[in-house]
Amino acid sequence: MPPPRRARRARLRDPVTGDAIDDGLALWFPAPRSVTGEDVAEFHIHGSRAVIAAVVAALRRLGLRLAEPGEFTRRAFANGKLDLVQAEAIADLVAAETEAQRRQALRQLDGHLGAVYRGWSARLLRTAAHLEAAIDFPDEDLPPEVEAGVADEIATLADEIAAHLADGRRGERLRDGITIAIVGPPNAGKSSLLNTLSQREAAITSPIAGTTRDVIEVAVDLAGYPVVFADTAGLRDSTDSIEQEGLRRALARAEAAELRLFVFDARRPGDAAGAASWPGTETLLVANKIDLVADRADVPTGALPVSALTGDGIAALVAALTGRVAAGYDLAAPALTRERHRAALDDALSALRRAQQAALPELRAEDLRLAWRSLGRITGAVDVEDLLDVIFADFCIGK
Ligand code: GDP
Repeated sequence: MPPPRRARRARLRDPVTGDAIDDGLALWFPAPRSVTGEDVAEFHIHGSRAVIAAVVAALRRLGLRLAEPGEFTRRAFANGKLDLVQAEAIADLVAAETEAQRRQALRQLDGHLGAVYRGWSARLLRTAAHLEAAIDFPDEDLPPEVEAGVADEIATLADEIAAHLADGRRGERLRDGITIAIVGPPNAGKSSLLNTLSQREAAITSPIAGTTRDVIEVAVDLAGYPVVFADTAGLRDSTDSIEQEGLRRALARAEAAELRLFVFDARRPGDAAGAASWPGTETLLVANKIDLVADRADVPTGALPVSALTGDGIAALVAALTGRVAAGYDLAAPALTRERHRAALDDALSALRRAQQAALPELRAEDLRLAWRSLGRITGAVDVEDLLDVIFADFCIGK
């Protein structure tokens, strides 16, 4: 037996036959000072298929089995080693494809996000306790100072949660990819530009849900930010119903995008006016095919001159894009990263708003309790048995 938490060189032998299996390291972590909080043994072995098969077979004979996906993390959660938000951060860390995603996941694992939610929970609980203590005073109306204090705190909490929710989904976008739509007239060079951009930057090969024939999407690591370029197949008027469906999807995609590149042919500067039909999201003007233009003076001001063909101006375009994207993401501030958290926060906020309107202090106290429960579901402080299978299902084996 190696001493606790010390690596020791060990010869692994079959427990029945005594035959040597491999030469490696063994570590022993007695409970509770282990990753799961339980007794944990680790074997560092040569990773070939034959060695792994022999070690696993030997362990099986001792009555052990392989862990389910996410089982280690789940046990760590059950033993209070992590909260649910941190458990989800491990899944994000394992799946992180870019630097910004890795940093966001690590901050979440460090507990910054969970601390925000626990802070709100604690304040809610204190407020509810004040209110309930006052209600329990027999034969008296609520002391006005208690009532005013409770109302103030409910309003402050509701404002803070609402502000956290109104973050433009930056944390979720960072997890899922920041969409940049490429729009503009047919033949302006949108597909060529997408090719050039994705070849220059490190293209991520993970499949993207929702990719259709009509909207071509390429995931790219843009200076650490996960960006999805969406090429909206030539936005044109058409009577063909399939093309109209493509157009509808392209428009929806471009409207939902965080940023748009409006690409036009530099020889047709008048086309740049088409960008004005895209309100809302930020639009960057790109004058493509600059290699075909003799005098750049005709390029409209504010448009970036590029050539998808020669690569001219592409570095400046990438720099401009990176600047825009980075400006929207303050990685130091804990951001909402999951729809699950958003839904629970929405519920908590609705309960707080109801509490503000409640006609009776007893009803107000009940709404506060509901808000507190919603917040508790995020970190796993209240019963979340129903959630666990869903959360740990997307883990990989061995985590
Ligand atoms: P889309 O309809 O906007 O996607 O345009 P395409 O990318 O299909 O390009 C239309 C045509 O313009 C193709 O023949 C391209 O080879 C050509 N093209 C695209 N970009 C450039 C460029 O920067 N310079 C030149 N000379 N031709 C280009």
